[in-house]
Amino acid sequence: MKVVLLGPPGAGKGTQAIRIANKLCLPKVSSGDLFRNHQEKDTDLGRLAHSYMARGSLVPDGITIKMVMEWINTQDNSKGFLLDGFPRTLLQAEALDKELNIDGGLNVVLYIKVEEKELIQRLGGRLICKKCQTPFHIHTDPPNQSGICDKCGGALYQRDDDKPSAVKKRLQVYANQTEPLIAHYRKSRKLEEVNGQRLVSIVENEIISILTQSK
Ligand code: AMP
Repeated sequence: MKVVLLGPPGAGKGTQAIRIANKLCLPKVSSGDLFRNHQEKDTDLGRLAHSYMARGSLVPDGITIKMVMEWINTQDNSKGFLLDGFPRTLLQAEALDKELNIDGGLNVVLYIKVEEKELIQRLGGRLICKKCQTPFHIHTDPPNQSGICDKCGGALYQRDDDKPSAVKKRLQVYANQTEPLIAHYRKSRKLEEVNGQRLVSIVENEIISILTQSK
């Protein structure tokens, strides 16, 4: 089972990726988390990625493709995997298709759809755990104790790129560079649309049901 989660920033890809990977025992990776891990460790790649991420731009394709392919190649491919936030450009999608074509390609691309007004509201109030990356929201999903992750006790923070100017840019970048992937995957009949504007558990159940049927 090789699955891609596609959708605008704030659609809930990260939240669903954690839940689905746990439920289906699938290895998962978020390209954004890989970059943030590099930043935490202050590597050359982390410093380079930061200059793009902080202003809401995409990290160049060559760097991103290499990083994600390295992750894929360290996995036990017999289990499959879940990709959150990759691919985000046609070039990335083509690189992924090329890499996976030998053993059947992707099974499903889940496109989580949410309206722009809702995305802005979600991103503006989002808090993330520094340790386990679990997302919270100051109004709709606050932690039990302010600033502390319910799951692991890690510190919660607001991502630089969740601040208003970067959010605007990320939504533009999504519309220009990532939205064309919807047509790309629709053409190959891999695309499954999910309405992301419902309760997290309802979205999760629908995704699980799609993935179970497409096995
Ligand atoms: P995310 O955590 O998925 O919202 O990603 C945060 C930021 O990381 C994005 O705004 C980009 O700057 C960078 N990033 C994550 N995934 C990719 C990707 N597939 N291609 C290019 N940049 C990416």
